[in-house]
Amino acid sequence: MKRVVVAGAGISGLSLAFELERLGVSALVLESGRRAGGKIETDRRDGYICERGPASYLDRHNSITPLARSLGVEARVLPAFDAGERRLVVADGRLHDTPLDAVAFFRSRLLPVSAKLRMLADLALPRGPSARGQEESVTEFASRRLGVLAGERLLQPLVSGLYAGDPAAVSLPAAFPLMAALEREHRSLVLGMRADLKQQRAKRRAGNDAARLSSFVTGLDELTAALASRLGDRLRLGARIVQAERTENGFRLQVEENGSSSTLDADALALAIPAHQACAVLRPLDSDLSEILARIPYVPVALVHLGYLASALPRPADAYGFFVPASEHLKILGAIFASAIFPDRAPAGFSLFSVRTGGARHPETASLPDEELTALAHAELAGLLGLTGPPAFAHVARHERGLPQYTLGHMDRVAALEAGERRYPGLYFHGNAYHNAGVPELVSRSGELARRLAEELAR
Ligand SMILES: Cc1cc2nc3c(=O)[nH]c(=O)nc-3n(C[C@H](O)[C@H](O)[C@H](O)COP(=O)(O)OP(=O)(O)OC[C@H]3O[C@@H](n4cnc5c(N)ncnc54)[C@H](O)[C@@H]3O)c2cc1C
Repeated sequence: MKRVVVAGAGISGLSLAFELERLGVSALVLESGRRAGGKIETDRRDGYICERGPASYLDRHNSITPLARSLGVEARVLPAFDAGERRLVVADGRLHDTPLDAVAFFRSRLLPVSAKLRMLADLALPRGPSARGQEESVTEFASRRLGVLAGERLLQPLVSGLYAGDPAAVSLPAAFPLMAALEREHRSLVLGMRADLKQQRAKRRAGNDAARLSSFVTGLDELTAALASRLGDRLRLGARIVQAERTENGFRLQVEENGSSSTLDADALALAIPAHQACAVLRPLDSDLSEILARIPYVPVALVHLGYLASALPRPADAYGFFVPASEHLKILGAIFASAIFPDRAPAGFSLFSVRTGGARHPETASLPDEELTALAHAELAGLLGLTGPPAFAHVARHERGLPQYTLGHMDRVAALEAGERRYPGLYFHGNAYHNAGVPELVSRSGELARRLAEELAR
């Protein structure tokens, strides 16, 4: 029987191994850490549920619910309250609603009249480079379609939210293919986004989970725990792949486990680990591939969870949260109103906020000492929400290399890695460094990759 090794037990590696198993291909998952889940990790402390990584997902690809169903945990999927639909953005130091229809747009004080008029030009502008699959930065795309101010306040926060990136450096078609597709299909971005919103709303009305922001009852790591438990002894924790070499029929892996080193032969190797780790693993095999992987940068991210007595809030925080555009004089990148979107994220009578810091814009803040970071997050959050009391609870989670950046040139790098896969049959790149960092997108890709791998293995 052929041996398939999956490196990394984040959502990518776990779901890939599970999908392979469903196709009758047994895979061994090697994970360097002492726990499975990777970036997905939930801390439950003092009655609060703190997500160290992702807190929710929008299952556009309809991948998570079917996966949860196959794992027998579908009843644990937790749709967000309606507040999850409301997104806020900071402009001139204040929170504003992101307008979702024409009436709200014209009434909104988020933009001056001149910026609103410029934005309307989008209705007549021709398609640009992103629609043709050519790279341009998020800033270029947003300014071209909507104008500088509307681009910065309406589009950049939307697109910088997931990657905590620098909109001037991140490639729009690589990081946000949906935006590029909307321009391609509708020409006007405004009309495209309106059609997309309508479609999502219709799906929600029809009770389609795919269109609803969701999580799991006690946190997202319920999903990765279910996957890990299903894999059983085909998941080995504390086993780090150090390097890979080519053999006649596949790969010879050097694995470090419990302080000792051993080798393992594999017919297929799926690297579902961060690009900087894959870079080290592949160096002996192919220094060119390793060099390309090294050129995918990462930014640090720190999340500060703050709990407040409900009486410290001058008004209910009934929204998903807010994003901070780059021109605002704030160090935080935004916040999610955790207890406003899911039940039981905070004890009764308290509210929980997850403040995001670091990213490409303020990488230095992600390494501030806990006390300083907590004070900064509280001060800026309090300024925006008008909080009248100190936090009753604080929790800090850090990721030194938190999120990959699809900077300009990313599409060429991914194409070169795909050429590498063809050069070394049996080698596969998976995980959030290449096509999309969203959890549902990674799960959906696991399904596609599993089918491809199983087919190629059978040849
Ligand atoms: C703070 C934060 C907030 C986020 N919020 C959201 C959100 O709200 N919604 C959303 O959809 N996405 C969100 N994301 C993105 C999403 O969480 C990630 O893209 C996704 O979880 C990555 O999964 P992965 O399996 O590709 O990689 P990882 O989770 O990084 O897993 C890789 C695994 O490989 C292991 N590993 C590394 N090197 C080796 C080696 N040599 N040998 C063996 N194992 C190795 C690691 O220990 C790790 O467990 C967020 C990410 C962060 C950091």
